[in-house]
Amino acid sequence: GEPGSYVELDQEGVRRHLAARPALAARLGGAPGDWAVREVSDGNLNSVFLVEGQAGGLCVKQSLPHVRVDPAWKLPLDRAFFEAAYMRAVAPHVGSAAPALLDYEPALFCLVMESLTPHVILRRGLIERAEYPRMASDVGAYVARACFATSGLARRFEAVMDDIALFARNQTLTRITVDLVFTDPYRIAPRNRWTAPLLDTVAADIRGDTALKQAAARMGERFLGRPQALLHGDLHSGSVMVTAEETRIIDGEFALMGPIGFDLGLFVANLLLSLFSQPGHDEAGAATYQAWIAAQIETVWTVFDREFRRLWNAASANAAGDVMPSALLAGEGSRNAMQESWMADIHDDMLGFAGMEMIRRILGFAHVLDLESIGSDDTRAACELQALAFARRLLVERSASGGIGALLRQRAGRL
Ligand code: ADP
Ligand code: MG
Ligand code: MG
Ligand code: MG
Repeated sequence: GEPGSYVELDQEGVRRHLAARPALAARLGGAPGDWAVREVSDGNLNSVFLVEGQAGGLCVKQSLPHVRVDPAWKLPLDRAFFEAAYMRAVAPHVGSAAPALLDYEPALFCLVMESLTPHVILRRGLIERAEYPRMASDVGAYVARACFATSGLARRFEAVMDDIALFARNQTLTRITVDLVFTDPYRIAPRNRWTAPLLDTVAADIRGDTALKQAAARMGERFLGRPQALLHGDLHSGSVMVTAEETRIIDGEFALMGPIGFDLGLFVANLLLSLFSQPGHDEAGAATYQAWIAAQIETVWTVFDREFRRLWNAASANAAGDVMPSALLAGEGSRNAMQESWMADIHDDMLGFAGMEMIRRILGFAHVLDLESIGSDDTRAACELQALAFARRLLVERSASGGIGALLRQRAGRL
């Protein structure tokens, strides 16, 4: 194509792209002809390549003009711009929990980042019942750090509003969330699908459940109407890569300013979906692994809560933010009281958004491998029915529930 114009990069295109950028070529080392280029795309939207040279590896991610898994569904390219903007915004606050962004080429809507090896996608590790000792606390701390730093608690309102203005343009992907998470599962919609006919009745029950739909509508209002912090926006277990020692967060293209509980809720929901899928893969050992996942869910919350309060207390010394200004909360216990209600609010959002994410992954367009990889419809439907019942409680009964820990213990029959 013309210099500066968009072309879809294939393996040779990726090689030329990196060869033309000396700093990136130097990271790979050796001659471009010797680099190994491998396509690893497995998400719904984009092309991803891993490139290895004798000195190191790189990951190249490019937006396509359509949904990768559905070429007839056309999409603008600009999601790569928002992914780059999100990575740049959170990088100073999250340390090594995100891969380093090394290059962004606006004409090609193409990111080059650190290659994560030997990390695996968390969702696949959970299907294999691997235990990752640091994962839950790393994700809890990541959300606390990324969200605190980009909230009005830590920043002047001018900086917050600049990010509201910038990420308000991420409308293609926000539209996908609004339709697929907040609306379609609760109405007849052409993209919906589920394990039919076994789930036909429960899908109809949900479409007719007034209390549930009111709770869902309230969550939608909070998602669109509460620009608390810069969110990742797609923090499911396919956006986390792990080893036993390390956790990395990838794929922030859905970034927007929104309620902090949304990132937590999506992540917790995907852990819950894995939990409910376990007996469908192998009854033997399922309960033990489910107990491990339940403990991780509690850890995500407790580490998030502790780290967020720690950051808030530390920032109060230099009066950083225009929201909850420390000048007004200096009295004995005053900041603590505000923190209690602030954290309770995020916890409540987390539960509600988690319920919606679980429902949409079973009745909506995009399903999860944890459940999809259960071969028998009967077995999968049994797992899905349990997950849907839990999701309904998250949405409708959450304020009287005693919180995520109590809900998990009730599920396990230990109360
Ligand atoms: P999409 O937006 O299409 O979902 P992702 O960013 O999730 O794309 O990447 C798709 C896949 O590519 C991931 O599931 C992972 O296997 C691989 N991948 C993405 N980023 C990296 C990276 N930095 N290092 C290694 N593999 C990666
Ligand atoms: Mg992805
Ligand atoms: Mg993505
Ligand atoms: Mg399914």
